[in-house]
Amino acid sequence: MKDHRKDKTEFTRRDFIRVGATGATGVALASLGALNVAAAAPVAKLPRRRYGRTGLEISALVGAADWNPDVIPLAVEAGVNYWHKAQRWSAESMPEAIKRQPREAYHLEITVDRVGGDHMHGHIDEEQHYQFVKQAVARSAVGYFDVFKFHFGYHSVQEAKTEPGVVRAFDRLKKEGLVKHLALSQHHYNNIGGDMAYDIITYLMDHSPFEAAQFFYTYGDKHELEDVLALAKKNDFGTIAMKTMGGVGRAATDKKFQALLAEPRFKGSSPGTAMVKWLMANPNLTAAVIATSNFDQLQENLAAARQGSMGSNDRHALGLLAAYNKGLTCLLCADCVSHCPEHLAIADILRYERYALDYHDLSRARAEYKTLTKDGTACIACGDCLPACQADINIVAKLKEVHRLLG
Ligand code: SF4
Ligand code: SF4
Repeated sequence: MKDHRKDKTEFTRRDFIRVGATGATGVALASLGALNVAAAAPVAKLPRRRYGRTGLEISALVGAADWNPDVIPLAVEAGVNYWHKAQRWSAESMPEAIKRQPREAYHLEITVDRVGGDHMHGHIDEEQHYQFVKQAVARSAVGYFDVFKFHFGYHSVQEAKTEPGVVRAFDRLKKEGLVKHLALSQHHYNNIGGDMAYDIITYLMDHSPFEAAQFFYTYGDKHELEDVLALAKKNDFGTIAMKTMGGVGRAATDKKFQALLAEPRFKGSSPGTAMVKWLMANPNLTAAVIATSNFDQLQENLAAARQGSMGSNDRHALGLLAAYNKGLTCLLCADCVSHCPEHLAIADILRYERYALDYHDLSRARAEYKTLTKDGTACIACGDCLPACQADINIVAKLKEVHRLLG
């Protein structure tokens, strides 16, 4: 997936190799990269948008602490100023390219998980969340985290109404100056009798101190997501899209797909760049977080994000991807989940498939799959879920496939 739209203001692969490939020398990569990036070439900056009520102006593409460290100097140079899962960095491991900036120039988000189990079985515990953030601030020596993000979110609107632990932990930390803003990433919980992400977020916009949310959102998604985005914009509530690239990674390695993509009507586009432009073209969305494992991927995403508007080639490329995904790639909508008498977390299982096939991260996919209380083998092939799937996935066969891949 090469980008053919590089202009002279962009950082070239040769520049990157020159400044970035320092692993073998033992020189601190980020530090050297940052210095030379600045000297090598001016890099056009990403657009920034207001992250809802937080008032932060964040880059339209946000970064994550699990990105390949080699790409971070370029990301910083390109204007990425918001970092997801930043608690993963200690004072020593935080990339030099980030920490050499004035503290107010970049925004760090800490994700705070339930305790005593995974996101479905764990519980909210004010004191433990408070201590977790406090220790992370000390470990990272960053002074404070800009955003406290409740990871995976509430199980239901009812829980959001009646369980104050997260908000209380945030309030205590905010008083001490250790965090500034409150957000959450919200999943669907209909497999355990809870609510859909969009219903919980809609409630939180009106009824709590939450200022922003991150959630699944991709091309061809349900209208409920569009509605939430429009409402969020109206309510000055920040939004970050995640898991946007369904099918992109597998299409990139599929020879038949690539042969189709060679047709003239797709020229200059690819599913990945078209998806980034589609996201950027949505005025209701603040930003997107996109898994990035190498230089080419980041360069493509940056170029597409700067360009923003879609051409007919991009629209064709997204259409091709949507057709390719039919019957193949889960959209993570969770519509099937509430029909399952076995309460299988179908959308989670198929999200792990995405890690393997779209991010090409088999070890993460297998590690996550292993944590499931019920894996794909618990499917009794009743077929109750099948009519609910707008993506026409044969879920029974798919669960078997995924188990062969990850079990
Ligand atoms: S076919 Fe399997 S996954 Fe689908 S509803 Fe039945 S048990 Fe659940
Ligand atoms: S299998 Fe189908 S219905 Fe279930 S989450 Fe995926 S796309 Fe939605």
